[in-house]
Amino acid sequence: TEELLRKSDKLSVVGELAAGVAHEIRNPLTAIKGFIQLLQMGGSNKAHYYEIMMSELDRIEFIINEFLVLAKPQAVRYQKKDIRTLLNSIAALLDTQAILNNVVIRMEYEADFPLIECEENRLKQVFVNVMKNAIEAMPGGGELLIQAQQTPDDQVMLRFTDTGCGIPESRIPKLGEPFYTTKEKGTGLGLMVSYKIIEEHEGMIAVTSVVDEGTVVEILLPAAMRERV
Ligand code: ADP
Ligand code: MG
Repeated sequence: TEELLRKSDKLSVVGELAAGVAHEIRNPLTAIKGFIQLLQMGGSNKAHYYEIMMSELDRIEFIINEFLVLAKPQAVRYQKKDIRTLLNSIAALLDTQAILNNVVIRMEYEADFPLIECEENRLKQVFVNVMKNAIEAMPGGGELLIQAQQTPDDQVMLRFTDTGCGIPESRIPKLGEPFYTTKEKGTGLGLMVSYKIIEEHEGMIAVTSVVDEGTVVEILLPAAMRERV
Protein backbone atom coordinates (compact mmCIF):
# COMPACT_ATOMS: atom_id res chain seq x y z
CA THR A 1 0.00 0.00 0.00
CA GLU A 2 2.81 2.37 0.85
CA GLU A 3 4.36 1.98 -2.58
CA LEU A 4 0.99 2.55 -4.20
CA LEU A 5 0.48 5.70 -2.17
CA ARG A 6 3.88 6.98 -3.14
CA LYS A 7 3.14 6.37 -6.81
CA SER A 8 -0.18 8.19 -6.71
CA ASP A 9 1.52 11.09 -4.91
CA LYS A 10 3.95 11.37 -7.78
CA LEU A 11 1.16 11.27 -10.34
CA SER A 12 -0.59 14.11 -8.53
CA VAL A 13 2.56 16.21 -8.61
CA VAL A 14 2.91 15.60 -12.34
CA GLY A 15 -0.77 16.43 -12.87
CA GLU A 16 -0.44 19.68 -10.96
CA LEU A 17 2.61 20.62 -13.01
CA ALA A 18 0.90 19.82 -16.29
CA ALA A 19 -2.13 21.90 -15.31
CA GLY A 20 0.17 24.73 -14.30
CA VAL A 21 2.07 24.64 -17.58
CA ALA A 22 -1.14 24.55 -19.60
CA HIS A 23 -2.57 27.46 -17.66
CA GLU A 24 0.59 29.56 -17.92
CA ILE A 25 1.00 28.97 -21.64
CA ARG A 26 -2.59 29.50 -22.71
CA ASN A 27 -2.46 33.29 -22.29
CA PRO A 28 0.62 33.99 -24.46
CA LEU A 29 -0.65 31.49 -27.06
CA THR A 30 -3.99 33.27 -27.28
CA ALA A 31 -2.17 36.58 -27.69
CA ILE A 32 0.03 35.22 -30.50
CA LYS A 33 -2.99 33.80 -32.31
CA GLY A 34 -4.72 37.15 -32.07
CA PHE A 35 -1.76 38.98 -33.58
CA ILE A 36 -1.45 36.46 -36.44
CA GLN A 37 -5.11 37.13 -37.23
CA LEU A 38 -4.45 40.87 -37.20
CA LEU A 39 -1.51 40.38 -39.58
CA GLN A 40 -3.68 38.26 -41.90
CA MET A 41 -6.17 41.10 -42.02
CA GLY A 42 -3.31 43.34 -43.18
CA GLY A 43 -2.76 45.24 -39.97
CA SER A 44 -0.84 48.51 -40.34
CA ASN A 45 1.45 48.20 -37.35
CA LYS A 46 3.39 45.08 -38.36
CA ALA A 47 6.70 45.78 -36.64
CA HIS A 48 4.89 46.32 -33.36
CA TYR A 49 2.87 43.08 -33.72
CA TYR A 50 6.05 41.09 -34.42
CA GLU A 51 7.68 42.60 -31.37
CA ILE A 52 4.79 41.60 -29.11
CA MET A 53 4.62 38.10 -30.62
CA MET A 54 8.32 37.66 -30.02
CA SER A 55 8.06 38.68 -26.38
CA GLU A 56 5.10 36.32 -25.90
CA LEU A 57 7.19 33.50 -27.41
CA ASP A 58 10.07 34.42 -25.07
CA ARG A 59 7.64 34.13 -22.20
CA ILE A 60 6.50 30.66 -23.27
CA GLU A 61 10.14 29.60 -23.56
CA PHE A 62 10.90 30.96 -20.10
CA ILE A 63 7.90 29.22 -18.55
CA ILE A 64 8.76 25.89 -20.14
CA ASN A 65 12.33 26.14 -18.92
CA GLU A 66 11.18 26.97 -15.40
CA PHE A 67 8.66 24.13 -15.29
CA LEU A 68 11.07 21.63 -16.83
CA VAL A 69 13.38 22.22 -13.92
CA LEU A 70 10.47 21.50 -11.59
CA ALA A 71 9.30 18.41 -13.44
CA LYS A 72 12.63 16.73 -14.02
CA PRO A 73 12.83 13.65 -11.85
CA GLN A 74 15.84 13.89 -9.62
CA ALA A 75 17.32 12.47 -6.50
CA VAL A 76 16.26 14.39 -3.41
CA ARG A 77 19.22 16.57 -2.65
CA TYR A 78 19.08 19.15 0.05
CA GLN A 79 21.28 22.21 -0.35
CA LYS A 80 21.76 25.41 1.59
CA LYS A 81 19.99 28.20 -0.26
CA ASP A 82 19.09 31.86 0.15
CA ILE A 83 15.32 31.71 0.07
CA ARG A 84 15.02 35.37 -0.98
CA THR A 85 16.59 34.58 -4.36
CA LEU A 86 14.07 31.78 -4.83
CA LEU A 87 11.16 34.04 -3.94
CA ASN A 88 12.37 36.69 -6.38
CA SER A 89 12.63 34.25 -9.28
CA ILE A 90 9.10 32.97 -8.69
CA ALA A 91 7.76 36.52 -8.42
CA ALA A 92 9.41 37.25 -11.80
CA LEU A 93 7.84 34.12 -13.27
CA LEU A 94 4.37 35.24 -12.18
CA ASP A 95 4.87 38.92 -12.99
CA THR A 96 2.84 38.96 -16.23
CA GLN A 97 -0.08 37.22 -14.56
CA ALA A 98 0.11 39.72 -11.69
CA ILE A 99 0.18 42.73 -14.03
CA LEU A 100 -2.77 41.36 -16.03
CA ASN A 101 -4.70 41.11 -12.76
CA ASN A 102 -3.66 44.55 -11.49
CA VAL A 103 -1.82 42.90 -8.63
CA VAL A 104 1.22 44.59 -7.14
CA ILE A 105 3.79 42.24 -5.62
CA ARG A 106 5.78 43.78 -2.77
CA MET A 107 8.74 42.21 -0.96
CA GLU A 108 9.85 42.89 2.61
CA TYR A 109 12.96 40.93 3.49
CA GLU A 110 15.06 41.16 6.61
CA ALA A 111 18.65 42.00 5.74
CA ASP A 112 20.45 39.52 7.96
CA PHE A 113 19.14 36.22 6.80
CA PRO A 114 19.92 32.56 7.38
CA LEU A 115 20.21 29.97 4.63
CA ILE A 116 17.72 27.14 4.41
CA GLU A 117 18.51 23.49 3.92
CA CYS A 118 16.16 22.72 1.06
CA GLU A 119 15.40 21.09 -2.22
CA GLU A 120 15.19 24.18 -4.33
CA ASN A 121 12.86 22.91 -7.06
CA ARG A 122 10.39 21.47 -4.60
CA LEU A 123 10.25 24.71 -2.61
CA LYS A 124 9.85 26.65 -5.85
CA GLN A 125 6.77 24.57 -6.53
CA VAL A 126 5.33 25.62 -3.15
CA PHE A 127 5.96 29.32 -3.81
CA VAL A 128 4.44 29.10 -7.31
CA ASN A 129 1.30 27.52 -5.82
CA VAL A 130 0.93 29.95 -2.93
CA MET A 131 1.62 33.07 -5.01
CA LYS A 132 -0.67 31.94 -7.83
CA ASN A 133 -3.47 31.31 -5.35
CA ALA A 134 -2.99 34.82 -3.96
CA ILE A 135 -3.08 36.41 -7.43
CA GLU A 136 -6.11 34.34 -8.42
CA ALA A 137 -7.90 35.48 -5.25
CA MET A 138 -7.62 39.12 -6.42
CA PRO A 139 -9.39 39.25 -9.80
CA GLY A 140 -10.11 42.94 -9.25
CA GLY A 141 -6.51 43.75 -8.36
CA GLY A 142 -4.78 44.17 -5.03
CA GLU A 143 -1.48 43.63 -3.29
CA LEU A 144 0.55 40.53 -2.56
CA LEU A 145 3.02 41.21 0.24
CA ILE A 146 5.85 38.70 0.64
CA GLN A 147 7.74 38.91 3.92
CA ALA A 148 10.73 36.90 5.04
CA GLN A 149 12.13 37.15 8.52
CA GLN A 150 14.10 35.21 11.05
CA THR A 151 12.43 34.04 14.25
CA PRO A 152 14.25 34.13 17.60
CA ASP A 153 14.43 30.31 17.61
CA ASP A 154 16.45 30.05 14.38
CA GLN A 155 13.64 29.45 12.00
CA VAL A 156 12.60 31.37 8.93
CA MET A 157 9.10 32.78 8.65
CA LEU A 158 7.75 33.45 5.19
CA ARG A 159 4.45 35.30 5.07
CA PHE A 160 2.30 35.76 1.96
CA THR A 161 -0.46 38.31 2.55
CA ASP A 162 -3.05 39.07 -0.11
CA THR A 163 -5.97 41.48 -0.23
CA GLY A 164 -8.22 38.99 -2.03
CA CYS A 165 -11.59 37.32 -1.58
CA GLY A 166 -10.57 35.39 1.53
CA ILE A 167 -11.69 31.91 2.62
CA PRO A 168 -14.69 31.19 4.88
CA GLU A 169 -13.56 29.77 8.21
CA SER A 170 -15.52 26.54 7.64
CA ARG A 171 -13.48 25.87 4.49
CA ILE A 172 -10.03 26.27 6.00
CA PRO A 173 -9.86 22.57 7.05
CA LYS A 174 -10.57 21.60 3.41
CA LEU A 175 -7.37 23.27 2.22
CA GLY A 176 -4.78 20.69 1.20
CA GLU A 177 -7.40 18.05 0.47
CA PRO A 178 -6.81 16.71 -3.03
CA PHE A 179 -9.15 18.21 -5.63
CA TYR A 180 -10.66 20.73 -3.23
CA THR A 181 -11.05 23.76 -5.47
CA THR A 182 -13.48 26.65 -5.83
CA LYS A 183 -12.12 27.59 -9.26
CA GLU A 184 -13.61 26.71 -12.61
CA LYS A 185 -10.21 25.68 -13.94
CA GLY A 186 -8.64 24.76 -10.62
CA THR A 187 -7.01 21.41 -9.89
CA GLY A 188 -7.26 21.48 -6.11
CA LEU A 189 -3.81 19.91 -5.98
CA GLY A 190 -1.64 22.96 -5.37
CA LEU A 191 -1.97 23.12 -1.61
CA MET A 192 -1.89 19.35 -1.19
CA VAL A 193 1.47 19.25 -2.95
CA SER A 194 2.66 22.33 -1.05
CA TYR A 195 1.73 20.92 2.37
CA LYS A 196 3.56 17.72 1.52
CA ILE A 197 6.72 19.51 0.41
CA ILE A 198 6.80 21.76 3.50
CA GLU A 199 6.35 18.67 5.66
CA GLU A 200 9.32 17.05 3.88
CA HIS A 201 11.33 20.10 4.86
CA GLU A 202 10.29 19.73 8.50
CA GLY A 203 8.44 22.99 8.28
CA MET A 204 4.91 24.14 8.96
CA ILE A 205 2.31 25.93 6.92
CA ALA A 206 -0.69 27.81 8.30
CA VAL A 207 -3.51 29.70 6.61
CA THR A 208 -5.60 32.44 8.23
CA SER A 209 -8.21 34.36 6.32
CA VAL A 210 -11.01 36.90 6.52
CA VAL A 211 -13.67 36.82 3.80
CA ASP A 212 -13.52 39.91 1.56
CA GLU A 213 -10.38 41.13 3.33
CA GLY A 214 -7.71 38.65 2.40
CA THR A 215 -5.61 35.66 3.28
CA VAL A 216 -2.31 35.12 5.06
CA VAL A 217 -0.24 32.02 4.35
CA GLU A 218 2.63 31.53 6.78
CA ILE A 219 5.41 29.05 6.14
CA LEU A 220 7.90 28.25 8.87
CA LEU A 221 11.13 26.52 7.88
CA PRO A 222 14.12 25.54 10.00
CA ALA A 223 17.27 27.53 9.23
CA ALA A 224 20.44 25.71 8.28
CA MET A 225 23.02 25.66 11.06
CA ARG A 226 24.73 29.02 11.70
CA GLU A 227 25.42 30.13 8.15
CA ARG A 228 24.57 33.55 6.97
CA VAL A 229 24.44 35.51 3.75
P1 ADP B 1 -6.52 25.39 -6.98
O1 ADP B 1 -5.72 26.66 -6.94
O2 ADP B 1 -6.26 24.58 -8.19
O3 ADP B 1 -7.99 25.64 -6.74
P2 ADP B 1 -5.22 24.84 -4.46
O4 ADP B 1 -4.96 23.58 -3.73
O5 ADP B 1 -4.04 25.68 -4.80
O6 ADP B 1 -6.04 24.46 -5.76
O7 ADP B 1 -6.24 25.72 -3.62
C1 ADP B 1 -7.44 25.15 -3.17
C2 ADP B 1 -8.49 26.22 -2.87
O8 ADP B 1 -8.11 26.98 -1.73
C3 ADP B 1 -8.71 27.25 -3.96
O9 ADP B 1 -9.57 26.80 -4.97
C4 ADP B 1 -9.28 28.41 -3.17
O10 ADP B 1 -10.66 28.25 -2.97
C5 ADP B 1 -8.60 28.30 -1.83
N1 ADP B 1 -7.47 29.24 -1.69
C6 ADP B 1 -6.16 28.93 -1.66
N2 ADP B 1 -5.40 30.03 -1.50
C7 ADP B 1 -6.25 31.07 -1.43
C8 ADP B 1 -6.09 32.50 -1.26
N3 ADP B 1 -4.87 33.06 -1.14
N4 ADP B 1 -7.21 33.26 -1.21
C9 ADP B 1 -8.43 32.69 -1.32
N5 ADP B 1 -8.66 31.37 -1.48
C10 ADP B 1 -7.57 30.57 -1.54
MG1 MG C 1 -3.67 26.74 -6.64
